[in-house]
Amino acid sequence: MKKVVKFGGSSLANAEQFRKVKEIITADPARVYVVPSAPGKRSSNDEKVTDLLYKSYELSEKGESIDEILGVIKARYDEIIEGLGLDVSLDEEFEIIKTNYSNKAGVAYAASRGEYLNGVLLAKYLGFPFIDAADVICFNEDDSFNAEKTDAKLQTKLREFDKAVIPGFYGSNSDGFIRTFSRGGSDITGSIVAGAINANIYENWTDVSGFMIADPRIVKNPASIKAITYRELRELSYMGATVLHEDAIFPVRKQGIPINIRNTNCPTDEGTLIVENTCRPSEYIITGIAGKKGFVAINIEKDMMNSEIGFGRKVLEAFEKYGISFEHTPSGIDTFSVLVHQPEFEGREQEVLSELHRSVNPDSVELQTDLALIAVVGRGMRSNHGVAASIFVALAKQGINIRMIDQGSSELNIIFGVKNSDYENAIKAVYDVFITNPSDLLKF
Ligand code: ADP
Ligand code: ASP
Ligand code: MG
Repeated sequence: MKKVVKFGGSSLANAEQFRKVKEIITADPARVYVVPSAPGKRSSNDEKVTDLLYKSYELSEKGESIDEILGVIKARYDEIIEGLGLDVSLDEEFEIIKTNYSNKAGVAYAASRGEYLNGVLLAKYLGFPFIDAADVICFNEDDSFNAEKTDAKLQTKLREFDKAVIPGFYGSNSDGFIRTFSRGGSDITGSIVAGAINANIYENWTDVSGFMIADPRIVKNPASIKAITYRELRELSYMGATVLHEDAIFPVRKQGIPINIRNTNCPTDEGTLIVENTCRPSEYIITGIAGKKGFVAINIEKDMMNSEIGFGRKVLEAFEKYGISFEHTPSGIDTFSVLVHQPEFEGREQEVLSELHRSVNPDSVELQTDLALIAVVGRGMRSNHGVAASIFVALAKQGINIRMIDQGSSELNIIFGVKNSDYENAIKAVYDVFITNPSDLLKF
């Protein structure tokens, strides 16, 4: 039995958290490979070490002094070293970091030092060997992740060590330059290690007792999800439920390795089990709700567009040409809407609009700004009718206007758009009707 365990930033934010982590690891001898994040926030108004590192590199690029900010970062680690009574000094490491900054090692290098240094300390504290992720996690020249090369390197390396600490979030390309995943990417490293060694389970330890049905910052004490499928989870995490990085399921998915989200502060809680498939019915009709603010809908109208071959392609090409990715494309007979991220669109707005006019000659183009998208996800929706109706009645009762609806062909989700200002209330309304007061659900 081999388990890969990843600990998030808040789980390793200070010496007290390091102690909890060691207790968890030593409580089960199967917990052999450990993937740490950089120290996170110690309290709600604290700063994550990763954010400080990004700032420090920005200062260095501008030619400003970085002594103060690197001092703040070093103090975070020194607090851990002293709190645990470790016999280590990071003086030399910080000298190397400073030199590398002045040699323009890059922003990814800077960001990666958070995980690297935390890994060095955690390995020392656990008495485990340290493996630098730069030696085993491989990126291509275009910064994409190279799965085959990584698997081969990891498998060879881990054959040498029964136990090890491998920092999350970064790796290197074939020229030896450090590269990182996107934010929250230590979750991906954990999954890669679990996949490479065919682990029995990938435990992802964080600061909540699993995946909740809705964001706990919006719904007070939401119920947690006991079991969720990879696909449901991907829908939810893509839509903003940030507990686990949206790409973290790919490396374990093929082998069906379950992911267990656990709480470092309540290690006896079972957490959430994320699996390929389950015959366990979900406790409620829906599995989860998530969403994101800040979208704009570009509504294109043209009579008879449905008979114009290539219309949709030409519309999407206008966005592609300016590097704007789209989220959804709800359409009617004579209308075609494209939903995009507002901040991304704002800079190229006029260029995209004139391109649309040139390429599809629409009757009208209308912009709907400040939209939030909410996804209601659940494997149980397929076998229950009236789910959409219940959502819409719940929103109508709260006086919330629905701006757009899109049901995925998988029948795994219903996505709807509301005004940004209705976002929180819409999530609460959906949560209440399915979870708090299911007796209010419409009966058909
Ligand atoms: P870590 O630093 O351990 O990787 P993250 O901050 O990335 O942790 O993820 C955990 C956080 O995700 C929780 O503290 C919570 O605020 C937030 N969150 C958002 N949506 C949900 C959800 N549906 N269930 C649980 N937590 C959620
Ligand atoms: N430390 C990185 C971040 O803050 C990666 C992670 O925590 O997963 O995004
Ligand atoms: Mg995270």
